[in-house]
Amino acid sequence: MIGASGTRASGSRLIAYVRKIVPSGWPADATGGGMLDPGDAGLDAAVPATALLEANISSGDRSRVGRLLAVTSSAVRVRFAPSPTGMFHVGNARSLLFNWVLARQSGGTMVLRIEDTDAARNRPEWVQGILDAMAWLGVGPNDYEGPLFQSDYAQHHRDAIDRLLAAGLAYYCDCVRAEVIARTGSEHKGYDGFCRGRSLAAGDGRAVRFRTPDDGATIVEDLVRGKPTFENALIEDFVIARGDGSPVFLLANVVDDMATGITHVIRAEEHLPNAPKQQLLWEALGAQPPVWAHVPILVNEKRQKLSKRRDRVALEDFRAEGYLPDAMRNYLMLLGWALSGDREIVPWDDIVAEFRLADVIPSPAFFDVQKLRAFNGEYIRAMPVSAFIGACQPWLRGEATPWRPEAYDENAFAAVAELAQTRIAVLSEIVPMVDFLFLDGPPVDDAAWAKAMTTVAPTILSAVLEAFASVEWRAEALKAVLEEIGAQRGLKLGKAQAPVRVAVTGRTVGLPLFESLEILGRERTLARLRAALDRLS
Ligand SMILES: [Zn+2]
Repeated sequence: MIGASGTRASGSRLIAYVRKIVPSGWPADATGGGMLDPGDAGLDAAVPATALLEANISSGDRSRVGRLLAVTSSAVRVRFAPSPTGMFHVGNARSLLFNWVLARQSGGTMVLRIEDTDAARNRPEWVQGILDAMAWLGVGPNDYEGPLFQSDYAQHHRDAIDRLLAAGLAYYCDCVRAEVIARTGSEHKGYDGFCRGRSLAAGDGRAVRFRTPDDGATIVEDLVRGKPTFENALIEDFVIARGDGSPVFLLANVVDDMATGITHVIRAEEHLPNAPKQQLLWEALGAQPPVWAHVPILVNEKRQKLSKRRDRVALEDFRAEGYLPDAMRNYLMLLGWALSGDREIVPWDDIVAEFRLADVIPSPAFFDVQKLRAFNGEYIRAMPVSAFIGACQPWLRGEATPWRPEAYDENAFAAVAELAQTRIAVLSEIVPMVDFLFLDGPPVDDAAWAKAMTTVAPTILSAVLEAFASVEWRAEALKAVLEEIGAQRGLKLGKAQAPVRVAVTGRTVGLPLFESLEILGRERTLARLRAALDRLS
């Protein structure tokens, strides 16, 4: 991976653009020290990045892409680099999909790297949670290289820090924050470079800082944002290793990307402020920086950045509620990008074919749960009934159901499935839709009871009870009987059926009533009508 000092991985095409870049403003002696080869991993994919970039040209933006073409000539390698934090954020899911689609389109490779160096918050089951969430979205083990683990690259991180120190591009610092504030007179100015010239040796508690150039600018070539430009003078000498010697995210992230030959870094906008610092590290370590793409942040209906404390953001929660993976990934791909025309819900293959990273807009994207819900309803209605029945099973069977597990009747469910399919937007809603079929009695809902059991209810229920005892047990016949009973009292069908619906199903809304009664059966229906009358008297 990272070559020994001075050696280069022979035959690596990446070597062609490994160049030693010392931005203006660095001390003249900063050119010493070894270079790092950016890696020799997996460079056998055949499709050149140029093809990808041409495919991603936005109209009217050829000059920018032309420049990117000039420096990019190897196979596309992207990465998805989540931290195991206990849940899979929908923003992460969107980044995953953008990376994956780009790798797909280019015949390139996506690397999965678990950024597990924060040992305090790192559990094996959380790594499994990442893999499971990815698989749920349709990104399985054959779709990526890895998982690699950042912790396995610790020696590479140390080597990189040592090389930067040896090259005079990094130095030790023993300042504490209060001292820096006392010197600069501000909490906001950042580090003042105090230790640049002190030539401190390594020592307990001494951090390592990267020496940023004094002038010039760092231009981040970003496929989504154009050319964000950062004045080097405003980039403080940032920490790359903590006082205990451990590397910080900025450094580890770059070294891992270099070691695995990453050509395109597609990630959330939150990381944009890191990009100039990381680009300086790429250059200082002797490698061509990747092409960047910082995709827009996700915001809620108040235009606030999604927060896991305030908003629903865990993919696992949506999955548990009965969102379909196809609906979820369709929706996620449209956060920051749009299909042409008025199309929104389209087959996945169409999205893979049509997605253009360069057409992603940089402004914040509204993560609209109501719209996602509507998407999901569309996907549910588009399922074959048999698939719908299968998809509902996790909510219908097992110990978590409100009915006794043995009370579930698959024939009864199959009989109402098609009616239910058009009436729910997430699969968990199937439970209140059909629970009356499997519970011993109707579910208790006092509000529904109070609404439906008006003064006329007892006489309707009595008449229905009597008529239903002998009527042909078919939906049309049941409906005709109830219509007649209502008409005799000057009530339309809707009014007349309300107490019957609540008496039998417990709810004011649900499946078509008479089909429900037909499937529930005469005996249970009559028992529930009798019980309601008892309660009313
Ligand atoms: Zn210092």
